[in-house]
Amino acid sequence: GEEKEKKWFVGSIDQGTTSSRFLVFDGEGTPVASHQIEFENIYPESGWHEHDPMELLSSVQECIEKATESFIEKGHSKDQIKAIGITNQRETTVCWDTNTGEPLYNAVVWPDTRTTSIVKELKAKAGADELLEICGLPLSTYPSSVKLLWLLRNVDAIKQAYDEERLSFGTVDSWLIYKLNGGKDANIHITDSTNASRTMFMNLHTMKYDEKLLGFFDLDQSKIKLPKIVPSSDPEAYGKLTSGILSGTKITGCLGDQSAALVGQCGFNPGEAKNTYGTGCFLLYNVGEKPVISKHGLLATVAYDFGAGRKPIYALEGSIAVAGSGVKFLMNNLGFIKHSSKITELAETVKDNGGVVFVTAFSGLFAPYWIDDAKGTLFGITAHTQRGHIARATLEATCYQTKAILDAMEKDSNHKLEGLAVDGGMSNSDLTMQTQADIIGIPVDRPLMRETTALGAAIAAGFAAGIWQDFSELKEINKEDRKIFKPQVDAKKSDQMFKKWEQAVQMCRGWVL
Ligand code: ADP
Repeated sequence: GEEKEKKWFVGSIDQGTTSSRFLVFDGEGTPVASHQIEFENIYPESGWHEHDPMELLSSVQECIEKATESFIEKGHSKDQIKAIGITNQRETTVCWDTNTGEPLYNAVVWPDTRTTSIVKELKAKAGADELLEICGLPLSTYPSSVKLLWLLRNVDAIKQAYDEERLSFGTVDSWLIYKLNGGKDANIHITDSTNASRTMFMNLHTMKYDEKLLGFFDLDQSKIKLPKIVPSSDPEAYGKLTSGILSGTKITGCLGDQSAALVGQCGFNPGEAKNTYGTGCFLLYNVGEKPVISKHGLLATVAYDFGAGRKPIYALEGSIAVAGSGVKFLMNNLGFIKHSSKITELAETVKDNGGVVFVTAFSGLFAPYWIDDAKGTLFGITAHTQRGHIARATLEATCYQTKAILDAMEKDSNHKLEGLAVDGGMSNSDLTMQTQADIIGIPVDRPLMRETTALGAAIAAGFAAGIWQDFSELKEINKEDRKIFKPQVDAKKSDQMFKKWEQAVQMCRGWVL
């Protein structure tokens, strides 16, 4: 009826590592329609990980069509979708031709480790020790900068485009926004500061590209088009959809996926943190209006930047390369299970890990260890070992790394967390969340509505579209029916388990394939 017609909704594009989604949220943060598509992850060689940029785009477009159709079927009209937000896998690097608007190579995905030797070389270069202070990120295979460097050195089409001054660079947000706006005709080449803070090209303190950083990577700004950095929430900068069912609808928000999850969990106060167990696992801790450069292996990053006179908010981040992808590995490569959700059942066929520790270092180890040359290593196998033990060890690996990150965060911030808000695909596993609480000794707090990443992007878009004006209006969002996992094992036992893990980490270095 009339009530329904007056109601506003916000759309949210969530372009992740394994799937794309489009959700429509109402003003209370409840999803009313959604569609999700898994796309191909390409592993051409050991350590390489790619996506087809055109497939990322088409999967997003199809999700928009399908979810909007279902939204309309529920009795709404598409004009009620006032704005669209976008959130995306971060660091993943896309290069396209400025003249044609077409990609020049597959996207190099964030856990890709083809850059290991480039990183080694860069670490020995003069000025390497000054980067962290400027951009908040340590030199590793993870940021976009080293991926771009590899592409410039190894892909002729990209090198040529650079020499001929027609190379466009972007993370997935930039690529999608460019294409959704119609590509080279509208030529909207843009990124938000949360995504830009993952490239290693942005100065964290000024939110601008930094000459020193670009110089370190030998990038000549006249030869490469970098996306313009704008706030995460902006009524004009991001343009609009130019085709499909929602053609004409404005894009008004953009956040890297982990920033979006922090916003979706309403972690707006310094000292609040969230941990998202997706393909990888990422803990973000709100540190307020000034960046904190880590001394203990964490990243400093932009948490969110809502513009309109509001100051940007920073976070300390602990990034884990392998979480749900470990579950996928057991499923796709070892055939242990038919579906990710079955991993818990398999783990519950045994009562504990039986002494097995699995350092799932498929992409080296990220925070807080940063061991580029670590390889996945299974410890403690005996004739007693069953698949269930390995399943448990796989789930536990993410929990141990989270513990190591929390320890580092406590040292950097002098503050002990009282609880950890969680989300992401692997947080569906009750066993994993209980194990997490046991290992870190604080309660783990999981919302019923776990599309927090998509919600965060909707919030960023909704602010610029005037649906919400102030964070206080979001107080009630996603607070109902949360499940709390309280620590159940004694601290001595979990300390012992963690010590074993730390020992295993030290033993997985330096194995050359
Ligand atoms: P992303 O945005 O990185 O693609 P998601 O948050 O969608 O990640 O989570 C997907 C990941 O979660 C997959 O790697 C999958 O294996 C894992 N996953 C999904 N459901 C479960 C479950 N019930 N138990 C454990 N892992 C799960």
